[in-house]
Amino acid sequence: MGKEYLDPFIIPRHVFITWIYAQRKLPIKTRLARFQRQDTICSLCLSEEEDDQHILFQRHYAQHVWQELKSWWSFPSQQSGQSWEDSLLSITGTQAKSHITYAIFAARIYYIWLARNMVIFQNKRIPSHHLIQVIKEQVRNRIFFLIIFPKNLRCM
Ligand SMILES: [Zn+2]
Repeated sequence: MGKEYLDPFIIPRHVFITWIYAQRKLPIKTRLARFQRQDTICSLCLSEEEDDQHILFQRHYAQHVWQELKSWWSFPSQQSGQSWEDSLLSITGTQAKSHITYAIFAARIYYIWLARNMVIFQNKRIPSHHLIQVIKEQVRNRIFFLIIFPKNLRCM
């Protein structure tokens, strides 16, 4: 992933988490286990190892969120063996379209990570339909915000 996560359409706190993810530095269990005594079993499904790909993309929950977002917005198709990040680089069309695509991608990373943390730290499960609704609302609000407020009035 290049600098897409600095796109102004992306909400600042989503930029932060997406940037950490892109640096492969999210404090995911298999990563923490290199530095400390740590179980590596995913707290959500309790059956597989927790790593970035598993939590953010492959797990049933993440897949469900992704399917819903795909039916809402047309994402670039992912070739086999290609990462999601690389597929984002192949976006064609208007600039607005790529801005929105990045914004949705970043929101998805942010909220799935949040849902994972809610289970681990607060023992609360956010239903996937609720997460999807929040992602859509946040992206919509961000777009309206950027369209309605001229640059000099914005406080990023
Ligand atoms: Zn799992």
